Amino acid sequence: MKLGNLSGRLALLTPAGAIDVEKASNGRFASDPQGVFSRWQEFRDWAGGAPRGDTKPYDESDLRCPVPRPTQVFGIGLNYRAHAAEAGLPIPERPPTFTKFPTCLTGPFDDVLLPSPFVDWEVELVAVIGERAFHVGENDAWKHVAALTVGQDISERIVQWGNGGQFSLGKSFPGFGPLGPWLVTPDEVKNPDDLELGCRIAGEVMQTSRTSDMIFSVPRLIAELSAILPLLPGDIIFTGTPEGVGSVRKPPRFLQPGELIESWIEGIGTIRNRMVSAA
Ligand code: ZN
Repeated sequence: MKLGNLSGRLALLTPAGAIDVEKASNGRFASDPQGVFSRWQEFRDWAGGAPRGDTKPYDESDLRCPVPRPTQVFGIGLNYRAHAAEAGLPIPERPPTFTKFPTCLTGPFDDVLLPSPFVDWEVELVAVIGERAFHVGENDAWKHVAALTVGQDISERIVQWGNGGQFSLGKSFPGFGPLGPWLVTPDEVKNPDDLELGCRIAGEVMQTSRTSDMIFSVPRLIAELSAILPLLPGDIIFTGTPEGVGSVRKPPRFLQPGELIESWIEGIGTIRNRMVSAA
């Protein structure tokens, strides 16, 4: 199942077009794309037999952030060996976890304002929580994932490293969390534990890897995080980026006004975000 935020309204996305969830369910499910996760199982059951009569073609430029207001946003650092190596940092024994404050989230095709000349890219698989997860074991963890999507963990490197070692502010400027273009349920992809992902800047491929190279898999992350706190319906986890970021290149390479980041994951889709000068 593919699910999107079409101009602010929750929609099922099918090969024939979009189905407006509120209208097709006669109001049983609200139009707010964030509301659906608290009734995820009920929604999935309904969506399986949703009326197909109201399917309408849609324009991808109308797709907005598919998870607009999560309660918690988790970011994972150093989750690919080759990325830890390029950063000159040891392989972590526990997932290094920070937050991206939710106001940084934006749509799959939105422009991103550059607050400085030190902004970097990080393509990432993003997992969206369906059923609340607290003290969940690795073997049960996928059951708590509603969907997967593509994310960019855009990062201002000076603020990231300059605030007492706390990453969260440097990763939370407005627009620093593009998501989308839609949500895909894990059963829609061939193997949710092994997906190719990558990103291209101004046409040049900068990152390519597979999620099977993660140090902490999606189930392991859910086990580790939920050992400490509950993961709530609609929360999201940015699962870490592979090698190929700009700041550790020689010489360093940062995002310039006008450049387009294209970020993709196999079986999910591609998001495209244009960098815009703040001046
Ligand atoms: Zn990241």
